[in-house]
Amino acid sequence: QSSLEETRRMAEMDHLTGLPNRRAFDHMLDREMREAREAGETLCVAFVDIDHFKRVNDTHGHPAGDRVLKFVGETLNRIADARCFVARHGGEEFAVIWRNHTVEKAWKKLDAAREDIADRRLINRANDTPFGKITFSGGIADVFAYPEKSAALKAADEALYLAKQSGRNRILKAGEDPGPLVKAA
Ligand code: GH3
Ligand code: MG
Ligand code: MG
Repeated sequence: QSSLEETRRMAEMDHLTGLPNRRAFDHMLDREMREAREAGETLCVAFVDIDHFKRVNDTHGHPAGDRVLKFVGETLNRIADARCFVARHGGEEFAVIWRNHTVEKAWKKLDAAREDIADRRLINRANDTPFGKITFSGGIADVFAYPEKSAALKAADEALYLAKQSGRNRILKAGEDPGPLVKAA
């Protein structure tokens, strides 16, 4: 039985970051939606995407990109607790689920992680070259404000898209006015 559990655990883990993978995220979201609904609690979901990550790979190489990805995953995962789950959703994208948090409260936690990363000056330890500013953008939605799970995920994704369009390095709430959009840099 324990080896079966181990196999299952491995199938739900992302091997680069050690975080739950997309498959695990899908399961968690279904479970959390069910439990939060029963308990009459709120549920928020966010998508996070590293800004201009292709440049990191292009400038520093893929292995260095992997280290940055791992670091972002670790920093993001510091907001995780019994009511908050962080997963690698794929590529340089992460997903976060909060139980019993208003969008405002969830936003504050995610924004603090955003600021934490943006304030650092990461160095590529392979050659002591600075990575420059590493930032991410995010979009966050109140799951039960939508008729279906798919609509809630779409809303978070659209907010992420607007966060990118309006300058990156910011977290937007679904439906929030992004302000002026900037030209792609
Ligand atoms: P944007 O700010 O619009 O998100 O720009 P971006 O460059 O981050 O977005 P884009 O989708 O163009 O590029 C994402 C890059 O992430 C391309 C892909 O090679 C890289 N990537 C995805 N997964 C991994 C990974 O596991 N390791 C490394 N090193 N790079 C990855
Ligand atoms: Mg992406
Ligand atoms: Mg990106």
